[in-house]
Amino acid sequence: MKILFLDQSGELGGAELCLIDITKPYQDSCLVGLFADGSFRKLLEQRQIPVQVLATQPIQVRKQSSFAQSLGSASSLVPVIAQVVQKAREYDLIYANTQKALVIGGIASFLSHRPLVYHLHDILSIDHFSRTNRRIAITLANARASLVIANSIASQAAFVAAGGRAEITEVVYNGFEPELYQSHQANLSQLKKPFGLDGRFVVGHFSRLSPWKGQHILLEALAQCPKDVTAIFVGDALFGEQDYVQQLHEQVANLGLEERVRFLGFRSDIVELMAACDLVAHTSTAAEPFGRVIVEAMLCGRPVVATEAGGVVELVEHGHTGWLVPPGDSQKLAEAITSCRNQPEYTATVSHQAQLQASQRFNLTTTNQQIAQLLNRIVGSEQ
Ligand code: UDP
Repeated sequence: MKILFLDQSGELGGAELCLIDITKPYQDSCLVGLFADGSFRKLLEQRQIPVQVLATQPIQVRKQSSFAQSLGSASSLVPVIAQVVQKAREYDLIYANTQKALVIGGIASFLSHRPLVYHLHDILSIDHFSRTNRRIAITLANARASLVIANSIASQAAFVAAGGRAEITEVVYNGFEPELYQSHQANLSQLKKPFGLDGRFVVGHFSRLSPWKGQHILLEALAQCPKDVTAIFVGDALFGEQDYVQQLHEQVANLGLEERVRFLGFRSDIVELMAACDLVAHTSTAAEPFGRVIVEAMLCGRPVVATEAGGVVELVEHGHTGWLVPPGDSQKLAEAITSCRNQPEYTATVSHQAQLQASQRFNLTTTNQQIAQLLNRIVGSEQ
């Protein structure tokens, strides 16, 4: 099957990392069309997945754009739509991986008479999207998509609640290759040394720096934990949220946490870094659509404390495969971290259970088979 994948981002977010794994079986017969250049293009090239940057100018619509702003930027889409239509004629299917890709892919699917699949990696709620953008996404998906692949039941439910057609949705969780996460059981103290954290209890936070990812909540919690509890923050501000980065640094200084916090920026050695942590914290203050870092930590055999909202409750069973705390509650987070630190044996039992369960539930071989079956059904029904 020949697939034209579309993604708006040049940067590496969860949706992009997920797409790399999905494209693998189609490596010889697909193209990934991007609407921005950046590290995502480079990683696709490294993995020998055909990729082309289709937009010469950045597309200005933002998640919170109003109707007037969206309309104003519509004219900037015309050249890229024309390119996608031309490309699409060489492929059996258009696979839109992001919201702007849905807009462009939806129009292009109509003009090129190709079926459209939308992979929904977002919770289409007011926390994340403007009314206008939600309406555009739902209208286009309802009108044009033969299939909406939701990355969790929470994302699927939000799509339906916003007016999306339930009968075109299927839930497929992100898939992972467990063996890639289990080979780094090196000496913990060796791994911690480079950060000056040897002998301390290290909490890892792996996410782009953004207010709704809640790094500030972990800092607040840290100030309430015993003094040997430290944190590493892995990730960068991907979408221009530099003010927030500044705020985090000020918060560290105000709370006197300079010796207990390290900001490592964006890293590609996630597995090694997770192996150096005693615990991984996920602190999103709004509903997380899926939360790849949670599954990655589980696969690394690291205990996870995560916020109880959105897709996260489908990943973590409280007290059995991790711990759930209310979003935005730094006190409960501090209590959960401290209790893991104080009960290493119980914590290890929970993380071991999580590792076993995650290897089975989020296995890439299975999820790619699920996606292949769904896509075959659509292309088969078109012929
Ligand atoms: N990630 C990474 N380097 C970093 C920070 C994060 O490769 O410095 C990866 C992380 O391992 C995960 C993804 O980025 O695979 C983030 O996905 P998630 O679903 O957790 O959040 P999203 O970015 O989709 O909101």
